Amino acid sequence: MNVESFSFFKIIFFFILIIFGVNSFFQGLSDLNNFNQNINFTKPMETQENDFVEEEKIKKIDSKKIDNNQSLPIKEEKLKEKLIIVKKNDTFSKIINPYFDKQKENLIIQNLNKKFNLKYLSIGQKIYLYENNQKEIVKMILPISFNKDLVLHIKQNSITLHEENIEIEKDFKSLKFKISSSLYQDGIKAGLPLAVLAEAIRLYSFDIDFQRDIKKDTIFEILYETLINVKRNTIEYGDIEYINLKIENKDLEYFIFFTEDGYIDYFDRDGKNVKKSLLKTPIDGARLSSNFGMRKHPISGYNKLHKGVDFAAPIGTPVYAGGNGVVEFVGRNGGYGKYIRIRHNNEYKTAYAHLSGYNKKIYKGARVNQGEIIGYVGNTGNSTGPHLHYEIIFQNKQINPMKLKLPSGKILEGSELQKFKKNIKDIYARHLYSLYE
Ligand SMILES: [Zn+2]
Repeated sequence: MNVESFSFFKIIFFFILIIFGVNSFFQGLSDLNNFNQNINFTKPMETQENDFVEEEKIKKIDSKKIDNNQSLPIKEEKLKEKLIIVKKNDTFSKIINPYFDKQKENLIIQNLNKKFNLKYLSIGQKIYLYENNQKEIVKMILPISFNKDLVLHIKQNSITLHEENIEIEKDFKSLKFKISSSLYQDGIKAGLPLAVLAEAIRLYSFDIDFQRDIKKDTIFEILYETLINVKRNTIEYGDIEYINLKIENKDLEYFIFFTEDGYIDYFDRDGKNVKKSLLKTPIDGARLSSNFGMRKHPISGYNKLHKGVDFAAPIGTPVYAGGNGVVEFVGRNGGYGKYIRIRHNNEYKTAYAHLSGYNKKIYKGARVNQGEIIGYVGNTGNSTGPHLHYEIIFQNKQINPMKLKLPSGKILEGSELQKFKKNIKDIYARHLYSLYE
């Protein structure tokens, strides 16, 4: 074989490798998307489906609890526990029907509805029933969140209802592994929970082109929080505390930090994040005037979900691109008035509404850089005063920018930087400890 044909084979071989690599990346991405669509952070560590179990263990924990302010009457007799998991097409009434007469059933539903809208009973919701020696259900528990139960005591003619906080134990876990195929696949192999893996990929989604930048022998390491519901023996994953991708000996690391303005954010060792992410505030010197969430609409008067955040600022104040991207829409857009939408990557977009005008360089299809002026604050569309309405859109749905766990581009300074530097020592020590303990 001569040299030329050898290098020809080398090229062919490379191509095969690349095609294989791209394919497994997309495989991973589509798995991840499927997973994202019905993300479930709670994973039962043991199942006790439809079994009657002695309640003893639970009572022990109940009596240990410090904030047990509702003084449960701990009866002499032991109650038997039955767990029901809501399935598709179940209704609450259908579920409890076999255990109660119609009158009691109605009373239970009436009472429960005060604290928990039974219309939104979801598949997988757990309902615990407790039976006494006379085979009567005298108690019912609905876990309504990871750390909160709704407890019903069912007596002859009355029902009492209260919320109960459950003790959560916090712990940390570390992992470190070499990436040989993709972060997704090697992460799964290394036992990284999907929820954490998704968060990690999201954290890097503005720094890393996962197809191009991940070289062979890239090292990935991570420290994350685990929350354990002691009573239910279930686990949830909290925040990523530390994350690092070592590509060709260069660290791309992030440490978590709760900033003074109340954000959960991620910074490198110098307290800097100059990486291209999304700005949470795409405007200078503006005042946050309305947050994301339910509110009475100032014009229609109806209660409506406010799908963005509002920044009050004088007309003409420059508005910056929240991140690098391509302009997807520019022009009038109904109640939004003069409006710009930028597409940043496969998952993220940002939108800017009620503008007074656009930067001349902005047109549909234009590339913009983070921080570039795209338009000016105005009062167009359904607006009650000069302000910028800013939306961050993730997978075509508006999300709360204030809760966005992405590097913000902020640079820490002064006392905040000092506090951060102290924090990262603790975080890194915890990481090493949990990695090598
Ligand atoms: Zn708004």
